Amino acid sequence: MSQVFNFSAGPAMIFPEVLHKAQSELTNWLDQGVSVMEVSHRGKYFMELITQAEKDLRNIYHIPDNYRVLFLQGGARGQFAAIPMNLIGKKGKALYLNSGHWSATAAKEARNFGEIDEITIVENGDKTRITQLDFSDIAEKYDYVHYCPNETISGVEIFDIPKVGDAVLVADMSSNILSRQIDISKFGVIYAGAQKNLGPAGITLVIIRDDLIGHARKDTPSIWNYAVQRDADSMINTPPTFAWYLCSLVFKHIQSIGGLDIIAKRNTLKAQTLYNYIDSSKLYRNVVAKENRSTMNVTFITGNAELDAKFVAESTAAGLQALKGHKVLGGMRASIYNAMPLEGVEALIKFMKKFEAENS
Ligand SMILES: *Cc1c(COP(=O)(O)O)cnc(C)c1O
Repeated sequence: MSQVFNFSAGPAMIFPEVLHKAQSELTNWLDQGVSVMEVSHRGKYFMELITQAEKDLRNIYHIPDNYRVLFLQGGARGQFAAIPMNLIGKKGKALYLNSGHWSATAAKEARNFGEIDEITIVENGDKTRITQLDFSDIAEKYDYVHYCPNETISGVEIFDIPKVGDAVLVADMSSNILSRQIDISKFGVIYAGAQKNLGPAGITLVIIRDDLIGHARKDTPSIWNYAVQRDADSMINTPPTFAWYLCSLVFKHIQSIGGLDIIAKRNTLKAQTLYNYIDSSKLYRNVVAKENRSTMNVTFITGNAELDAKFVAESTAAGLQALKGHKVLGGMRASIYNAMPLEGVEALIKFMKKFEAENS
């Protein structure tokens, strides 16, 4: 088979080194003669695995000591409900910043659990851009302020952290977690489904400040209750052990290549290279304002739906997979998460040039 590059938005590509490592020990993990999938999650070896995984993640992401790390199930959407169940209690109100599909979906789910105010912070004019990030004057009315720093579908990223004074800031980082270093202490909760930048689907990372745990509504199911999960090492029920194991390999791999500084440099270079080419081309357009262009999901269109469809068909045949944009937007989307090498972006640009030459 010739070389394939996978631009899937999620589940997305995983570092080949991680897959090879998993393959090499698939049937015989740690010389036990069985796979990691077939042992007790409470056994010595698996407990060592999760302890080390948390250590590695804390080290990579500089997670302060007063934050807990949970590995849960139910994906980011599970957290859309878990966040209000655990955090709306004192004031009964939360503020949701709407920047696109995922932040709007999170707000909709939260309405089941409390009074939700929503403010649109995106403008879809000539260029899509984020309009405001300072909520320090109103934030204290709310139990928390929720936002999505990377809107995966439209390819809109928010690089500055919203100003919320002393209020609790909650972020859905499903599609840009670990893409660069951030100041964790600015956040109350960060959560992310794993299937974009952390590993395979089926496991969900929650990083939460200590003092925010323990205030869940009385009717909160145990699996969604952060205090219950903290006290049970995120194992109130059988966890997705294989997914957790793969995440642990991803953390090790990120460490081995030099951590998030290297990852961030690579991500910036990949995104810059692709956006620069798109801006220089006559056929393709990206409609996001420069300051909000996602480093993870690069959207582009030709302006002609038939030509877009042709692009998707021909790029797929050329080994450039999953470039079709999300169904709500159409066009194309190249998801270039941490695991995508620069060579993938270069191969995409080479194809885009050829397609432009043939179709203009
Ligand atoms: C993919 C994605 C989701 C949905 O994640 P699930 O794990 O499938 O629930 C939510 N938010 C963002 C920003 C995403 O990219």
